[in-house]
Amino acid sequence: MGREYKIGVIKGDGIGPEIVEEAIRVLDAVSVRCGFNLKYEEFLLGGAAIDETGVPLPDKTLKGVAKCDAVLFGAIGGPKWDNLERHLRPETGLLGLRKAMGTFANLRPAMVYKELVNASTLKPSVVEGVDLMVVRELIGGIYFGEPRALLEDRAYNTMVYTKDEVRRIAKVAFEIAMKRNKRVCSVDKANVLEVSQLWRETVEEVAKDYPKVELSHMYVDNAAMQLIRAPKQFDVILTGNIFGDILSDAASMLSGSIGLLPSASIGSGVGLFEPIHGSAPDIAGQGIANPIATIASASMMLRYALNEIEAAKKIDSAIAKVLSEGYRTGDLSSFDAKEICATSDMGALIADYASR
Ligand code: NAD
Repeated sequence: MGREYKIGVIKGDGIGPEIVEEAIRVLDAVSVRCGFNLKYEEFLLGGAAIDETGVPLPDKTLKGVAKCDAVLFGAIGGPKWDNLERHLRPETGLLGLRKAMGTFANLRPAMVYKELVNASTLKPSVVEGVDLMVVRELIGGIYFGEPRALLEDRAYNTMVYTKDEVRRIAKVAFEIAMKRNKRVCSVDKANVLEVSQLWRETVEEVAKDYPKVELSHMYVDNAAMQLIRAPKQFDVILTGNIFGDILSDAASMLSGSIGLLPSASIGSGVGLFEPIHGSAPDIAGQGIANPIATIASASMMLRYALNEIEAAKKIDSAIAKVLSEGYRTGDLSSFDAKEICATSDMGALIADYASR
């Protein structure tokens, strides 16, 4: 029997269903071309789940995704569900799902397509050729550390990392660097924080297993500055939860367009692959959303969850080719567009190139 994978599909709310359908169209095309088979099973999350079941994260979703090889996700949320109590809101469902899946590593690539250098707010000479990956620790650090408290006249949180937590995220970063340009820049605040000293020592220990990868260290304040000043110096940025939260958002803006950027959350079990943008209720149902971030997330799924590297490369080059030929969705219409496409036209074009 050939290679076969089971993909959990969560379309979500707003533009979610429109963009996920295009990613599936591309996955179908590339899987036929590369000789493997994908089976899909849909699950509910967020607003769609609230409407159907009364809760944002139904048990059926939790149990079902655990049996998949990977999960492809669109986006959730929208004004319809904004006034619900916190535990019933769509975002609570997504946070619960991420936690249950134990995805400790968040991968956020930032790349700038040559044809879209003008979409960035930075000078073309600064951003042209940027291709970096932020590897952020996702379920530890100050967001989860105990003790924490909000008292009357003071409040505190605790930044904690164990060596094991640092080791496992560092390994992810080094493995990724091995498949890229073999450079890891570990970002911390070791001049001030003990937790960062432990982080740095542990990363250096892990680096010994990867002699081909060049390791450097940078303080987070400098890293924020360098990302804007000279982003091309970075290949893989390895960092903790709070620093990664801030740096990955800054890095995403190098490309200037939210509709292009994918992400992956991986751990020891099933991974979750999703665009970085939200459900864009302002344009939902109009067939004008940019599906590229979701299609690129599907490519990350092939690469990092299924190890179907050839298929992932085909999708990445198909996206680059379609953009180089001047096809744009409305959000990118002011950047050297030769033809403005609907969501489904963009999906069909990328599927066509990816299947060649
Ligand atoms: P958003 O990312 O949904 O939209 C911001 C702006 O970018 C909007 O003008 C939108 O039209 C545009 N945009 C986003 N994706 C696009 C695409 N693919 N093509 C073209 N244009 C696109 O952020 P928001 O407006 O702050 O949030 C809307 C809803 O999404 C909220 O309910 C929020 O909670 C939710 N949200 C969900 C996620 C997620 O599911 N992971 C992430 C962020 C926000």
